[in-house]
Amino acid sequence: MTRRVSRQITVGGTAVGGGADITVQSMTTAPTDDVGAVSAQILALERAGCDIVRAAIPDEASALALAEIKRRIRIPLVADIHFDYKLALAAIGSGADKIRINPGNIGSRERVREVAAAARDAGIPIRVGVNGGSLERGLRGGLGTEAEALAASALRSCELLESFGFADICVSAKSSDVVATIEAYRLLAARCDYPLHLGVTEAGTEFSGLIRGSAGIGALLADGIGDTLRVSLTADPAREVAAGIELLASLGLRRGGARMISCPTCARCRYDMMKIAREVEERLADYRERDVTVAVMGCAVNGPGEARAADFGIAGGDGMGVLFRHGEIVGSAPEPELVARLFELVDAG
Ligand code: SF4
Repeated sequence: MTRRVSRQITVGGTAVGGGADITVQSMTTAPTDDVGAVSAQILALERAGCDIVRAAIPDEASALALAEIKRRIRIPLVADIHFDYKLALAAIGSGADKIRINPGNIGSRERVREVAAAARDAGIPIRVGVNGGSLERGLRGGLGTEAEALAASALRSCELLESFGFADICVSAKSSDVVATIEAYRLLAARCDYPLHLGVTEAGTEFSGLIRGSAGIGALLADGIGDTLRVSLTADPAREVAAGIELLASLGLRRGGARMISCPTCARCRYDMMKIAREVEERLADYRERDVTVAVMGCAVNGPGEARAADFGIAGGDGMGVLFRHGEIVGSAPEPELVARLFELVDAG
C-alpha cells in the first residue's frame, strides 16, 4: 500500500509522519493531578505497547503534575487542552511533549499566538484537534457537509498557526459519524501535508467502538492515509492500544508481535474453545516482542490444515486436543493442559 507523503514531526523523540511507523496512542483516565495513579496507568499502557499517551489538563494542578509524571514514564506525553490557553502555557512549561488544542474553544487569535510562541520556544508540536461536536461557531452548518466543516476548521487553524511562523503541526478531525470522519480526513489528506492523527470520536463501548473505529480508521489506513491513531473506546485504555496494534497488524502496517488466529467453530468442535482462546489471547499479550502466529482451532479434523499458516496451534478433540506446528501434528494433551503445552512449544521457538 502506498502511504500519503506527509511532513514529519517529533513528539518527545518519537517520529510521526514522513514515512515513520504509524504510532498507537491512548489517553489516561485517572485524574492527571493524581501523579501516582496516572503514572501507574501510563506504565501499564507502555507495557501494552502504547507509543504516545495523552492526558487531559482540566486545571492548573493537572498542568503542573505533568513534570513529575514525565519523570516516571518513558513514552511521550501529550497535554490535552480545552478552553483555557493558560493551561496550554502551563503544560508546555511543565515539559509536555506535544499539546493538543481544539480550535473551536481555545479562544482568540492573540491567545493562539501565545501558545504557538511557547510551543516553538519549547520545540514541541501542536495537534490541531477538531471534533464534530465542538466545531467553531459559524462553521457548523455553514460549510456544506460536516466533513467539509471539520476539514475547513482544521485547515483554518493550521493557517492561523502558520501565520505566526509555526508549522510543527499534526491534525485530527474526528466525528462520531464514521462516514463524515472518513470524508474529513480524505479532504485533509488532499489539502495539506501535515501528519494526520486518525480517530473516530465518541465511538462507544468496546464492542461498538471497535467496529466503528476499525471501519473509519481502517478505511483511511487502507487508502494510505494516517500517521498516528487512537481507537477511542469506553473501556480500559489498554484495550485501545491492543485494538490499535491489531488494526495496524491486520493491514500489514505493523510487523512483529504475537498474533492469534482462531476458527469461528462449528458443530465439529467438542471442547471449550472460547475459554481456551481467551486464555491464549491473554497469555500472548506478554509476547509482543515475538513475531509469531498461534492458532486455536475447533477440531483436529480440519483445524491443523486450515491453520497451516500459523507457527503453532492447538485443535480440540473430546476432552483433549492436539498440538501442531505449521499444520503438522506434533503431540496431544488433555484439555486442561493444552494451553500450557502450547506455550511450551512457543517458548521453545
Ligand atoms: S476448524 Fe473444525 S471446528 Fe473450526 S470451523 Fe473448521 S471444521 Fe469447524
